[in-house]
Amino acid sequence: MKLTFCGAAGTVTGSCHLLEIENKKILLDTGMFQGGSEADDMNFEQFRFNPSEIDMLILSHAHIDHSGRIPQLVKYGFKGRVITSAPTFELCKIMLPDSAFIQESEAEWKSRKRQRAGKKAVEPLYTVKDAEAALELFHAVEYNKVISIDPNISIRMKDAGHILGSAIIELWIREKGEEFKLVFSGDLGNKDVPIMNNPTVIEEADYVIMESTYGDRLHKDTENKTLALLDIITDTVERNGNVVIPSFAIERTQEILYVLNMIKESDNYKLKNIPVYVDSPLAINATKIFQSFLPYFDEEAQKLIQSGDNPFDFPNLVFTHTADESKAINYNKGSCIIISASGMCEAGRIKHHLKHNLWREESSVVFVGYQARNTLGRRIKDGEKLVKIFGEEIGVKSKIYSIEGFSGHADQRGLLEWIGAFKKKPQKVFLVHGEEGALSELSGLMETELGIANEIAQLGQTVELSATSHRKIVVERSGIHKESLISTLSALKSNFSETLESMEHHLSKDDNVKLDALMYMLEKLEDNIAELKKEIS
Ligand SMILES: [Zn+2]
Ligand SMILES: [Zn+2]
Repeated sequence: MKLTFCGAAGTVTGSCHLLEIENKKILLDTGMFQGGSEADDMNFEQFRFNPSEIDMLILSHAHIDHSGRIPQLVKYGFKGRVITSAPTFELCKIMLPDSAFIQESEAEWKSRKRQRAGKKAVEPLYTVKDAEAALELFHAVEYNKVISIDPNISIRMKDAGHILGSAIIELWIREKGEEFKLVFSGDLGNKDVPIMNNPTVIEEADYVIMESTYGDRLHKDTENKTLALLDIITDTVERNGNVVIPSFAIERTQEILYVLNMIKESDNYKLKNIPVYVDSPLAINATKIFQSFLPYFDEEAQKLIQSGDNPFDFPNLVFTHTADESKAINYNKGSCIIISASGMCEAGRIKHHLKHNLWREESSVVFVGYQARNTLGRRIKDGEKLVKIFGEEIGVKSKIYSIEGFSGHADQRGLLEWIGAFKKKPQKVFLVHGEEGALSELSGLMETELGIANEIAQLGQTVELSATSHRKIVVERSGIHKESLISTLSALKSNFSETLESMEHHLSKDDNVKLDALMYMLEKLEDNIAELKKEIS
């Protein structure tokens, strides 16, 4: 099998990897490059493959840096299926047309400017129509189910704990009579964050393609992020300023609302009456989708909701739909909290709120997510004192904060823990989705601390993967007699029923059994039985 890294190699954005298995071509993600004009140009470059030759795309999650170029893929002839989880499908239904709308508006704006200079108009990267055509190809699958997508390829999606519907993708590939397993981590979430489950532990793989976003960073004080936010809000309100939170429409906004709901429910009378604005149409729609996927939430959030407390609804929470409602926020007397997108401040209504608040000493800007290189968010976060917004220079006088614990990505410790949990060391791990420093630090630690062979993926690089000799599924044996096979079979039968019986017995009286591990083993057994059945029939 050939694996080619077509994006998010040496960078965080543009996730896209091509698998060529005998006569099949499969893509893992087709995301947009983000952060500045160089990234924009990369999106306009031709794909490193012919989209019409791609048989299938497996999508890890809805973030634009993973899904954003799917409509473009369709525009250039892709007709295969897009396999993903049900929440990712729903989220893409709002994200992709929204992204297309931004592309169309940008092209229109550029074209007008060019036409005034006597130049030719530009074409958008893709249109809303392309996005709609792309959504026709989507096909949702459940977590934890092995699905055969081809006689030689099976896949399974496991909760990555990163955003609603995010998945780690396991692939079993059979080629030339050998089988091996490839795991694509997608983006891995943080442990113990509101709403989301922890990223699923995977125990086995021959090869892993793994994200490295925070490979060189440890999140500070994850447990105290609610307190940190409470402190910032209290201080800002005392100064009569506004709290502006640039936030990704999906996940981060809902997580912040969850925490604000807790703050509002507490006895803090001062904060009870402070209005909270969610000023992003995309975030408002995403919040609705969240509410329709309760079974995907972690236990704590499910319990909260069952007790009658809806974390996305509390006094003085206002969802602003129209542009006029959005503008009115800035004429508000008294303090307020504004949550708005985009998360990296590159587009959307957040730019207006920054323009109105960055110059005010009494206001605060709180970063709660990753800020890619060359984005407005990164410049503010890195402490630039003068930034340009809508062509106007704005002095940065407000307080700038960053709360790391809200990040949707596992930090260095989380990443090492996840890859360290594999029972058998993978033959090789390919590190993707990170900036230089993060990649090299994670690579070094993986080698020295865990002894796991790894390589930093290069953009455009192709590697050849094959099964190791001991994983050959066609094992050549000689001298096996029918009798010995029959006796093995009967021993297996009694062993099997004994084990199942004792398991039932344990499950009924002891609740300390490792349910996850047992489920994993049972599922594997189920797979093997299915395999055997196929072989016999
Ligand atoms: Zn992501
Ligand atoms: Zn990502």
